[in-house]
Amino acid sequence: MIQCTLCDRLVLGLAGHDWTALPWMVAPGTGVPPGPCHVRCLEDLGCAGAWAEAVEAYHCRRWPLWLAGVDAGVRWRLHGSRAARRFHLWRSDGRLSSFPYADLTATHPLRLSTDLAEIGTAHAATLLTAMGTDAEGVAVPLTSVITALRLADRYPRLAGTLTRHLRPAGPDTTDVLAARHTLPLSPSCRRAAHHLMRSPW
Ligand SMILES: [Zn+2]
Repeated sequence: MIQCTLCDRLVLGLAGHDWTALPWMVAPGTGVPPGPCHVRCLEDLGCAGAWAEAVEAYHCRRWPLWLAGVDAGVRWRLHGSRAARRFHLWRSDGRLSSFPYADLTATHPLRLSTDLAEIGTAHAATLLTAMGTDAEGVAVPLTSVITALRLADRYPRLAGTLTRHLRPAGPDTTDVLAARHTLPLSPSCRRAAHHLMRSPW
């Protein structure tokens, strides 16, 4: 079971809503221990911005190809990793995320696929109970799962589904719970993403 170091409640692993703070990311004096946590919990402590600042230099060093902007007072920097064909979105409000080039299409909004748990783990059992079904292929709205887990205040404005899938893994398959969920991107950030994908650098 993955628990938030700040509120002891479940951390689901959804881009832009939670994160695992590594020891070097934790700004001294913020009172944030290393480990998984909700971005909302960092906000409640008033240190989401300080935490984002602590990882800013790392993002710039690790992924030196980026475009930046400001939307509604939030600074952002979209880093492109050409080798991995992946974006890493840094935001000054701490809502960091990472997603593959392939998830960016002309359609609005951006939808990500994330495997949350493998069937057989305690984490999956908790999620299945919250879903109210263990049938394969049934897409349960994430909002109802999150409400059943009493996490609605930690995962606000989240649209999507949670589904039990058999996922090919080499010659075998793994039985997983996969989320399809939205990640809001501003029009300027979306333009930056398309530009980064097309640029020859
Ligand atoms: Zn929390």
